Amino acid sequence: AKEAGKNAFEIFSTEQSGDLRGRFELEGDLHYAVQRSELELHYQPLIEIGSGRVRAVEALLRWHHPRLGLISPATFIPLAEESGLIVRPIGEWVLAEACRQTVAWQRAGLPNFRVSVNVSPLQFGREDFVETVASALAFSGLEGRWLELELTETLLMRRVSESARQLARLRELGVSIAIDDFGTGHSSLAYLQQLPIDTLKIDRSFILGLDDSPQGGTRPLIQAMIAMGHALELTVVAEGVETEAQLQWLGQQGCDLTQGFLLARPQPAEKLGHFLQAGPTV
Ligand code: C2E
Ligand code: CA
Ligand code: CA
Ligand code: CA
Repeated sequence: AKEAGKNAFEIFSTEQSGDLRGRFELEGDLHYAVQRSELELHYQPLIEIGSGRVRAVEALLRWHHPRLGLISPATFIPLAEESGLIVRPIGEWVLAEACRQTVAWQRAGLPNFRVSVNVSPLQFGREDFVETVASALAFSGLEGRWLELELTETLLMRRVSESARQLARLRELGVSIAIDDFGTGHSSLAYLQQLPIDTLKIDRSFILGLDDSPQGGTRPLIQAMIAMGHALELTVVAEGVETEAQLQWLGQQGCDLTQGFLLARPQPAEKLGHFLQAGPTV
């Protein structure tokens, strides 16, 4: 594997491998990744803009391949979805591990924060998904209110009434729901109001667009998303915040939380523990 920089994320992609056989081999290897303990979760803080407090951490999956090194989720999640492994064992493992780690942080006396877990449409679409979440909570001892699930708007909008029913069942566990990559899919405002959602995560592409022009760019779109989120009483998160200028502007607009390389990169649980012990960052 290539040697990666300290925080850099050196990636093997299937495009680079070129051939179909590489893809099949990778999918084969993925079958054993959980039992061989090759998967790991990194955690990236979601920080309250006013106070600098960590309100949540997002669990982001990493695969340490024995030969290829660190492989990006952008590469292997599609493979995990095609093969169904994203449901079992990978998705179940992610949920269980994120809950376990969060309880460990709580027991270590850190201030409470939520853990946010990405959920594939394949997981969410299953009848037994709510039971899987319930057992992850029960087994770890984590209270439901400390778990948030991240879903994409495209998924939720595809079959609204089924989504609403599934979300209501999750709500009964105390679990909260975030819409991930907001603004990139197709949300119907009417449906958005009907769904029991807590958090809206503005996609990174809009934050990048802030730099396009000093006054215009994506500013009006971001302002509209923040206003809409607040009108629906949602917590609004800006993803992919990389510069002070972006952070400052988002703060002026009343955006609630920031997530991005500027304040904290995704990092292994142990490192994050140190970061959290150090206290507020802004
Ligand atoms: P996502 O859910 O939108 O996660 C945010 C991605 O943005 C992460 O990439 C994170 O490392 C990256 N990021 C955060 N801050 C910044 C920033 O300031 N600048 C830039 N350039 N990037 C930033 P990552 O970890 O490579 O994950 C990629 C995607 O893989 C995630 O996008 C998510 O869709 C998926 N994913 C990750 N873990 C899981 C998982 O456990 N289950 C499922 N189903 N999908 C996952
Ligand atoms: Ca996410
Ligand atoms: Ca996202
Ligand atoms: Ca994304």
